[in-house]
Amino acid sequence: MKEITKIKLTDALNWCDENDKSTLFTIQYMMDYAKVQHETVIRFLESESKKQKIKCTCGWAGVMYNLVVDSESGTANCPKCGQEYTTMDEK
Ligand SMILES: [Zn+2]
Repeated sequence: MKEITKIKLTDALNWCDENDKSTLFTIQYMMDYAKVQHETVIRFLESESKKQKIKCTCGWAGVMYNLVVDSESGTANCPKCGQEYTTMDEK
């Protein structure tokens, strides 16, 4: 999967998440937004389910794809402001 596709799929997923959209709507929206096949969205969502929801003090929040987390400290860098923050569990 191309990096730009991952970014678009992440954007679309975050938007649907924020706006409380149904799973069916989300999948269709992601297909349209990233211009990918249904199968690609499903594969992305399967990998996404292993990722974490995160929130930063600058106000940025979302689900990061390919989030690089230091397993010992449990921290990562915000894609918006670049500062380090603690990750949150999806549950
Ligand atoms: Zn930030």
